[in-house]
Amino acid sequence: MILSEKLKELDSRAQDELRGVFDSFEKISYITSERVLEQFKKNRVSESLFAGSTGYGYGDNGRDALDNIFAGAFEAEAAFARHNIVNGTQAISIALFGVLRPGDVLLSITGAPYDTLSEVIGNKTKNGDGSLADFGIDYDEVPLKDGDVDFETVKEKVSEYGNRVKMLYIQRSKGYENRPTFSAEKIGEIVSFCHSISDACVFVDNCYGEFCDEHEPTFYGADLMAGSLIKNPGGGIAKTGGYVAGKKKYVELASYRLTTVGIGLECGATLDEKRDMYRGFFLAPHVVCQAKKTAAFASFIFSALGFETYPSYTEDRHDIIQSVILGSADKLCSFCQGIQSSSPVDSFVKPEPWDMPGYADQVIMAAGTFISGASIELSADGPLREPYIAYFQGGLTYESGRLAILSAAEKML
Ligand SMILES: *Cc1c(COP(=O)(O)O)cnc(C)c1O
Repeated sequence: MILSEKLKELDSRAQDELRGVFDSFEKISYITSERVLEQFKKNRVSESLFAGSTGYGYGDNGRDALDNIFAGAFEAEAAFARHNIVNGTQAISIALFGVLRPGDVLLSITGAPYDTLSEVIGNKTKNGDGSLADFGIDYDEVPLKDGDVDFETVKEKVSEYGNRVKMLYIQRSKGYENRPTFSAEKIGEIVSFCHSISDACVFVDNCYGEFCDEHEPTFYGADLMAGSLIKNPGGGIAKTGGYVAGKKKYVELASYRLTTVGIGLECGATLDEKRDMYRGFFLAPHVVCQAKKTAAFASFIFSALGFETYPSYTEDRHDIIQSVILGSADKLCSFCQGIQSSSPVDSFVKPEPWDMPGYADQVIMAAGTFISGASIELSADGPLREPYIAYFQGGLTYESGRLAILSAAEKML
């Protein structure tokens, strides 16, 4: 790649100045890698466990061992990871429908959940769509206050609904909202507060957060959490899937939603997916570290070029999402086109803004990934509206992430 002198100089400054930041990411990756490896050893992983089952999938030891590995690595009592969970939304949905019953209240305490959950929750009417609302499960939310949980209001709501509140819902990552991402440790404080005022199951949407901190929310007392395997814990290798982890009784209830009551985790053919799920989970701590390094590098380069970036490269990172405020449609498009042209797949494609269903403004997206839609692989997108923010995440290797960010910067200059 031919780089201008200015970018060459910035790139080399970044390698020096980010050394300390990268060290802090690598420290976490070392600790979490060790925990994952310990689980592989403890569960005596060997070639035979990778063999796929068919039909009912009874007695699939490799499937059970992988569940134990997820549980152990997340320091949770129990877990399951399945290739046939289609995405993060379904993993979360399995947890919600598994635990909640008609008449219960689901209370989100970190504002509105991620967009795709709104139809799962439903809109207070029984319109026959099978949403939580349709089953008579009520929903309420407490918006964040100054970037933190509004503890006062949560307490009021919990006493207002009384013991109808059966689940308190926390979203770890900021997703595409303008708010901070909560560290797992901070979630621990929120969970302690929740447990002090209610017996409800405390659930965490853990998407984009896995392996970003030393421990997961389940270590700090969260009762249940869920996430996607085409994000962090799939390590860029798992071809599809999701997981649920937490307290044994809640994971069991969720398992009845995954398959059916009375069957739970005893069935479920793994076909030919286990080897990739094992390998992906093994690599995940390292790959997450690569994505975080790519994000910090982007923040460094673009802030040096005069753009606002969130989080800044100097801040701690608790998810893999980076946003850069580009300020114009032209710049946003150039940015995405630069990322696309440095992707290993579809580098020759030029992304253009389009009218994506469900969005008020046009959206531009760059993704040149081995696994369709995988956001642990470098991908970028943004709606064409003020202030023209590019959101991006992922990067299987820091080297390729660094190249793509330099290409995006060059394209914009
Ligand atoms: C990605 C994500 C989800 C689930 O999205 P899917 O596209 O269904 O995998 C839920 N919550 C957050 C915060 C996410 O980032």
